[in-house]
Amino acid sequence: MTYPSIDREKKILELLQKQGSASIQELVDAFGVSNMTIHRDLNKMAEAGHIHKKHGGVTLAGNSPAAGESLCSMCNKPVSARTVFIVQFENGEQKRACCAHCGLMIQSQSKKVRQSLTADYLHGHMVSAKQAVYITGSELNICCVPSVLSFGSQQEAEKFQKGFGGTLASMDEAIQYLHGMMHAH
Ligand SMILES: [Zn+2]
Ligand SMILES: [Zn+2]
Repeated sequence: MTYPSIDREKKILELLQKQGSASIQELVDAFGVSNMTIHRDLNKMAEAGHIHKKHGGVTLAGNSPAAGESLCSMCNKPVSARTVFIVQFENGEQKRACCAHCGLMIQSQSKKVRQSLTADYLHGHMVSAKQAVYITGSELNICCVPSVLSFGSQQEAEKFQKGFGGTLASMDEAIQYLHGMMHAH
């Protein structure tokens, strides 16, 4: 099946919304167009700030129109692109959370999680929740309290920590932190 370019852009966004990222090859196969055509689409979308291109693939950018249209599955707050957390289950379902706080809670309540993605707080692109670096207990209470913010790299997290304090944590540590805080209340 082939689509005109504008439809393809919409479909690419939908696909990224569903799975967070895609490889160029995947998109070429999905749309039955040439590598060059996909690259042209992606360049346009990247320029518009809707996606991020990286080696051989793309991820949804935080400010994409597709990224911020739902309510948190945990607390029903509108999901902000800057802090969105997406949990994907083994059966293909996915839940979106307003921030890493809710996202990690959803994730820790299910054993059937395939993978999760979380927004890098500084840049807004989606990163694997497992590999993300979290900051707990910073002075900045963003979204749900106790706030947990996620970053794509240790370096970014430390940059933030310098300004706003808090403790660097791995995903498991951040989950433990949340559970600990919840019981303390
Ligand atoms: Zn929430
Ligand atoms: Zn939240």
